[in-house]
This record gives sequence, structure tokens and C-alpha cells, in this order.
Amino acid sequence: MSDLKRIMIVEDSTTQALHLKAILESMGYEVKIASNGRVALDMLNEDFCRVVITDWMMPEMDGIGFCRSLRSRDLPGYVYVFILTARDNLDDLVEGLEAGADDYLTKPVNPVELAARLKTAKRILDLESSLKQQKEEIARMAITDQLTGLYNRRYFNEQLPLMIRAAVRFEQPLSLIMTDIDHFKSVNDTYGHQAGDAVLQKFAEIIRSSLRAGVDWAARFGGEEFAVVMTNTALKSTEVAAERLRLLVAHSLISIPSGDKLRITASFGVASIKPNSADELTMEKLVAAADEALYRAKRRGRNRVVTAVL
Ligand code: GH3
Ligand code: MG
Ligand code: MG
Ligand code: MG
Repeated sequence: MSDLKRIMIVEDSTTQALHLKAILESMGYEVKIASNGRVALDMLNEDFCRVVITDWMMPEMDGIGFCRSLRSRDLPGYVYVFILTARDNLDDLVEGLEAGADDYLTKPVNPVELAARLKTAKRILDLESSLKQQKEEIARMAITDQLTGLYNRRYFNEQLPLMIRAAVRFEQPLSLIMTDIDHFKSVNDTYGHQAGDAVLQKFAEIIRSSLRAGVDWAARFGGEEFAVVMTNTALKSTEVAAERLRLLVAHSLISIPSGDKLRITASFGVASIKPNSADELTMEKLVAAADEALYRAKRRGRNRVVTAVL
């Protein structure tokens, strides 16, 4: 059942609550009842609900107090609130709306009017959901490399310093692998840019498949150079991981749009920060060390792993 098909009634009078519940159930809603504002807030924390119809006068926490408290909370989504009142005095309604209610209903509730107003609630909540989704999508895109789906340089630059700080604080090792495809320019030159893109995607896919989920992560550092960050992993284990990745790449056959199948190799530079290391390690130093090792791997003939001495 969609979460817009669930409604919470906040009402101290059992008779009135059950009456409203019957109307809502006949419209196909699933209904929960809370006896006052305080109970409703607790219930929302346990089992979130996006539409609430609250009575005005209630013991312990009334409708106004409930609206105010609800709006000050960090909940999983927007809650659309109707405030119920027997009094259709405009001053009172303003107080309810100012406290955070979205709409009001006068008692006794007219089912036709209720249905129409619930339709409005649904429209607003649907809009809120789609804006929230768009916002999440934009946030995700801002840290993702479009071509490969790995994290981008921006994420790398934001995240790695935080991880280095955490590693130092918890006295854990942290390692970085920098890897660069060998003679990648010749792929572009021979087969075209599209083929080059396909190779980059496949290379990223191989890296991704080799990561320990939720522990290690990879980013496209730029062009055909990628970075793998391995948390709580010392230099020796990282070298082993890089060597495994090197073999995985060298043994892969990569299909390109023309139908040809290519083989590629890559070079790797590995560097680690040690717990209790005397000098302060920055992201710049770690990256420079791994990059320098990668450069040496290239000079020694490519398709190899070289470890930095830090
Ligand atoms: P080396 O073994 O020394 O790394 O040689 P290389 O040819 O791989 O390195 P070089 O730096 O000479 O060339 C990298 C090439 O990568 C040049 C650039 O046009 C290409 N490149 C960078 N980004 C992309 C991309 O997004 N798509 C494609 N198709 N090519 C890219
Ligand atoms: Mg009441
Ligand atoms: Mg290269
Ligand atoms: Mg390069």
C-alpha cells in the first residue's frame, strides 16, 4: 500500500476518532489513531505517516502544540497536516496554520469535502517527493563520474582528507592505489574515442568488481587514471590487492563498439599511511607518493605494481 494511503488521526474522543476512521476506511485509507499530540509524535517516530488529521483541543498536547513540535523535528519526509476544529473562527484558523498546519477541516467532517482536500494533500506530497528525489539525484551526480559511474575527483578531494584524519585518530592504516591505463592514447588513435570510452568503462567495472563493498572505494582521478582507497589496510595487503587487480585487467578481453575485442594493461602505484607515523600526512603527500610510484611503474616497463616508500 502506497504511503499516501495511510492516515493518522490524532483525536482524544474515541467516538469521533472512530467515526472519522470509518469514513476514511470507506475511501480505502489505512488509519491509525493517536489519543493526543504527544502520542502522535511517538507513533510518527516509530512508523512514519505522511498525512495527519489532528483535533484541536486535546489533553497533554493539543493540535497547535502538535503542529509546532512536528515542524521542528527532522522526520523522513514532509507531513501534511489537517487541523480539525468545531470553531470556524478565522482567528483560530490562522493560529493553526501559523503553527504549521497545511489545511483545516471543520467538524462534523463532510466526506465529499474531505475527499477533495485529501486530493490536494496528495498533489502537494507528490510534488515534495519528486523535488526530494531530484535533489538526491543532483547530489549523487555532483560526486559521480558520468562516464564510469565511479566517484569523481571532487568526491575524492573531499573524502580522502576526512578518511586520513579518521585513520590517524583510530590508529589504523590507510592505503591508496593509483592506476593508469598503459598506452591508452593508442586505443583512441587506433579505434576512435568511442572505443576509448568503452575501455574506460570496462576498466572502471573491473576496479569496481574488485572492491570490498562498503570498505574500499574508487574514483576517476582524471582521464585514464583512477584511484582506489583502501581503509584499514596496510601496505602489504594493498600491494597484493593491486597485483590481483593488475592481473584481472591484463586477462580481460574488452569488447568495443566496432565488435573488436581488445586487451589492455595498467600500471599501479601504491602508498600507505602507517598508524603512529611521526610526520603529519596530508592527502597531497599520499597522492604524490602513489603517483610517484605509478610513474616508476611506467618507467620500468608498465603493467606492474610499484610501492612507494613513505
Ligand atoms: P601511458 O602508458 O604512459 O600512460 O600512455 P597513455 O597513452 O595511456 O597516456 P597519455 O597521457 O599519453 O594519454 C592519455 C590519453 O587518454 C589521452 C587522452 O586523449 C585520453 N583520454 C582522457 N580522457 C578520456 C576520455 O574520457 N575518453 C577517451 N576516449 N579518451 C580519454
Ligand atoms: Mg478534542
Ligand atoms: Mg595512460
Ligand atoms: Mg594518464
